[in-house]
Amino acid sequence: MRCAICKKKPIIYMPHHRLALCKEDFQRWFERYTEKTIKEFGMFTHEDRILVTVSGGKDSLALWFVLRKLGYKADGFYLHLRIGDYSERSKAKVESFARRMGARLIVKDLEEELAGVPTLKELTYREACSVCGLVKRYNFNKVAKELGYTVVATGHNLDDEASSLLANVMNWNTKYLGRKFPVLEEEEGFVKKVKPFCKFTEKETALYALLNGIDFIEEECPFAEDATSIFYKEILNRVEERSPGTKLRFYLEYLKKVYPRFKEEKKGALTPCKICGEPSPTEICAVCRLKEKVTKAFQGGM
Ligand code: SF4
Ligand code: ZN
Repeated sequence: MRCAICKKKPIIYMPHHRLALCKEDFQRWFERYTEKTIKEFGMFTHEDRILVTVSGGKDSLALWFVLRKLGYKADGFYLHLRIGDYSERSKAKVESFARRMGARLIVKDLEEELAGVPTLKELTYREACSVCGLVKRYNFNKVAKELGYTVVATGHNLDDEASSLLANVMNWNTKYLGRKFPVLEEEEGFVKKVKPFCKFTEKETALYALLNGIDFIEEECPFAEDATSIFYKEILNRVEERSPGTKLRFYLEYLKKVYPRFKEEKKGALTPCKICGEPSPTEICAVCRLKEKVTKAFQGGM
């Protein structure tokens, strides 16, 4: 097999694109494909101020890197979740990456305004990922609005998107299916949210990060072991091995044929939370209720 462009030895073969590429051509292809996805879904323009939410992992750091390389105004946002050493190490990776890039990084410490994820998990008896997802969505939106960003970009890749799609199809969670799109437009107190890497596999983003010397955290969050998403990723990988191209087709055909049928289902009446002003289906939003719980717990010595 040879690189489809220069005929040199390839570094990767992507069966879903029937494409083998060498080191240099893969990087160029990756950047062009990112730009193409941004345009295809109308994600943002060079006028937008983009807040990239970074975790220290390969996807989010590669996204921040490539957006800046493509000339977009992209700053980073790190939410310190206080998940022990894992959070400390990932924060250090993000900070050193920002220094190397000379890019603006905003850091917010969850413990300062609420409590770290392990404490929230204990207090709510919820799965760590469920409470973590809630505080992340809330903070990404709130911080972006407060600081005047027009778009929030996350590093979700094809494996993330296809596995969560499969999990939700299994439960016919139609409300979720109505939100599963690479662009969620600005509305009712929500900043526009985009996923420019939604068509890249994990392997592709990891290779791009490695080839560009991006020092990312390789260890998984300790709570990831419980995450059902890993189980669904494994299932999809087995299907992909048997029938290459299925993962991308499953996701793209969903976007084309299924999403339009469900997109109206996502709508539920939202009002600004009476305490913080963030959009909420109830008078007081879930995060403000969580805050009340934390305050009570600490007043009572937990
Ligand atoms: Fe949060 Fe779960 Fe991801 Fe850990 S694995 S960062 S707890 S969502
Ligand atoms: Zn609130």
